[in-house]
Amino acid sequence: MQSLEAFAGGKLAALEAGSLRRTLRPTRRFADAIVERDGRRLVSFSCNDYLNLSQHPAVRAAAAEAALNYGAGAAASRLVTGDHPLLGDLEKRLARLKGTEAACLFGSGYMANLGVIPTFAGPGDLILVDALAHACIWAGAKLSGARVIAFVHNDMADLERILVAERAGVRHVLVATDGVFSMDGDLAPLDRLSDLCTRHDAWLLSDDAHGVGVLGEGRGSAALFPQAHIPLQMGTLSKALGSFGGYLCGSQAVVDLLKTRARTVVYATGLPPASAAAALAALDLIEAEPELTALPLARARAFTEAVGLPPAQSPIVPVIIGSATAALAASTRLEAEGFLVVAIRPPTVPDGTARLRLAFSAAHTETDIARLAGLVRQILAEVA
Ligand SMILES: *Cc1c(COP(=O)(O)O)cnc(C)c1O
Repeated sequence: MQSLEAFAGGKLAALEAGSLRRTLRPTRRFADAIVERDGRRLVSFSCNDYLNLSQHPAVRAAAAEAALNYGAGAAASRLVTGDHPLLGDLEKRLARLKGTEAACLFGSGYMANLGVIPTFAGPGDLILVDALAHACIWAGAKLSGARVIAFVHNDMADLERILVAERAGVRHVLVATDGVFSMDGDLAPLDRLSDLCTRHDAWLLSDDAHGVGVLGEGRGSAALFPQAHIPLQMGTLSKALGSFGGYLCGSQAVVDLLKTRARTVVYATGLPPASAAAALAALDLIEAEPELTALPLARARAFTEAVGLPPAQSPIVPVIIGSATAALAASTRLEAEGFLVVAIRPPTVPDGTARLRLAFSAAHTETDIARLAGLVRQILAEVA
């Protein structure tokens, strides 16, 4: 027991010394991107609730009604008794949105990648992962037992070089990328990835956690590349859809195999009915109001233009500061001005690229965006 305490204490001290220790800050969230911390109200640019749907009356009512009618939890794996009919309804809607034959729900986006990747790749296979892909893609790849190689971020020449060198020596190849990169906000070139995968018989997985609901009239980043063939389209219910859970959209055979083999489906409790009901209500709103889905990107573009940054490609805008200490100081200063903009530090992002990560929402006002842009311009001038 003493060695455990010493281990944890020593680790914490080292993280503290590098400005890398993280602590929780209790936060209440309200409509219109308002959050409350330590009794203070702030305008949040750090929630992934791009359409403000987690606070929408219809979405909240759907979740509440499902909880009242069907209970708070699913009580078992879907393969036992946890397959509430709302889950199948939601899968049909997700497949329709993505233009695939079928969909499989998971307990979260993280659990989706932990379940999907090892179902389709294992020892003797190769997984090629974009260097900036999300942590749960890496975790799924590691868990699979396949060999894993990183390719340079969005660098198709590097990916092709690896495919040419390695393809013949392995059984299957899976190429995994974020569709919208979570800490940089840029898009994967899904058309070129799809071409390379077709030519080298590799399977493309795109994680569109930050694309669904906010790009391609809500259908996600794949809709921006209509020629691309993406057989494994993963995403989350937890961001623009305002609920909780994850999914994989694909062919019927792919989905049927997941439902019988993916360990995070088989050995985990099904999604609560309330989460499915909330996501269904969110999809109703997204399909009824495609103009709503365009607002977060329009807000992000207004900000990048005002600051003089390259035009935003998604609702996520990184403001690279450099050191973790300076990024924390910038975040503290914005908080004093009434804005919540969380600093993102290594290991979430590469060393030396600690940053402010801004997530724009349909709920942000022009006034807030203009004032924040002015403050960020000052911060950038000082760290330059
Ligand atoms: C947030 C995120 C996930 C995880 O989704 P959860 O539903 O929050 O578990 C997966 N991939 C990417 C790219 C993400 O940004």
